[in-house]
Amino acid sequence: MQNPYTWLEDSLATIRRANWYRAVRTVDGLPGATICLDGREMVNFASNDYLGLAGDERLIAAAVEAIQALGAGSTGSRLLSGHRKLHRDLENAIAYLKGTDDAVVFSSGYLANLGTITAVVGKRDLILSDAYNHSSLKNGAILSGAQVREYPHVDMDALRGLLQEYRNHYRRCLIITDSVFSMDGDLCPLPEILDLADEFGCMVLVDEAHGTGVFGENGAGCVEYLGCRGRELIQMGTLSKAIASLGGYVAGSSALIDFLRNRAPSWIYTTALSPGDTAAALAAIQIIQSEPHRRQKLWKNIDYCQELLQKNLHHHNLSVLPSSSPIICIQLPHPQAALEMSQYLADSGFFAPAIRPPTVPTSRIRISLMATHSRDQIKGFVECLGN
Ligand SMILES: *Cc1c(COP(=O)(O)O)cnc(C)c1O
Repeated sequence: MQNPYTWLEDSLATIRRANWYRAVRTVDGLPGATICLDGREMVNFASNDYLGLAGDERLIAAAVEAIQALGAGSTGSRLLSGHRKLHRDLENAIAYLKGTDDAVVFSSGYLANLGTITAVVGKRDLILSDAYNHSSLKNGAILSGAQVREYPHVDMDALRGLLQEYRNHYRRCLIITDSVFSMDGDLCPLPEILDLADEFGCMVLVDEAHGTGVFGENGAGCVEYLGCRGRELIQMGTLSKAIASLGGYVAGSSALIDFLRNRAPSWIYTTALSPGDTAAALAAIQIIQSEPHRRQKLWKNIDYCQELLQKNLHHHNLSVLPSSSPIICIQLPHPQAALEMSQYLADSGFFAPAIRPPTVPTSRIRISLMATHSRDQIKGFVECLGN
């Protein structure tokens, strides 16, 4: 008999041949605009910590204090023995930030999407999904058992066409979309999506993973920035990006949140968020509200970086994908070119990862800017790209 596991090595060999192979790299010390990566100090353009809060002493102190008072782990699911007042405080803070009735926190953003989508739709329902949506939305859609149809990226005519053709054949319909597309950095046309949803009687789930803390006067996200506060929808997000901790959330009506607490399997059958993560997230949300200058600094950095890229890159046959966020992508012709560019940048002290298929359709260098990057760091990076 052949060993039933030999296919693993064959598969890995195929992945390597396509230049799709990935491996982890070790970061030492506190996270920030510079990090120590595989033993070398580098300017970090690969972090989701947009406001530079993950290493903030107030978050660290809040986490330490919570661990000392409440322990390292929460020991059970929320509905059994794991629920603490701290969880409720965090959920209230999220609902306040978002301007919704209520919110519920999950152990990660990924689990928030899996749990929410499977709870609100099933076999008799339809999901319409942007082709560039995050893996957690796509897998949540598959897991729900609903009929899933993708529309081409941000194509509202195509979305309308699908609604006209299919909406009536199903009980409920859910439109799912990233607000900021995580691998491209562009935004979804949320007002138009909500108008279509109204016209065809659909629910909308918007994933604010990269929006929260970054967009909007109060840092509430793209829903606020795009003028959609107060419209009924399902807002989800993560506590692990601008909020600099770990966990996910859903914010919305009291009925929605109450329903999720009763029907979302990835909330019911998993351990409650740890006290340290919960306290750090709560501290971050307070800072997001009380220190808008962090967000303003981030946007100054974004504008500065885009300006330098536009000025410099057309000389070099490099094109920048359209972006309205801290996520900026420089397009490259194939995976090998992206890997070589990333390596060249790394040799020059800039950590800017290559993102390749199958994560995205086309290879690119993807950077994410932070409020804590200096202008010199950004300038150095753009100059290096152009060399
Ligand atoms: C990161 C991300 C998630 C997952 O959030 P985690 O808390 O890291 O699990 C979900 N959606 C999008 C768009 C993301 O970028």
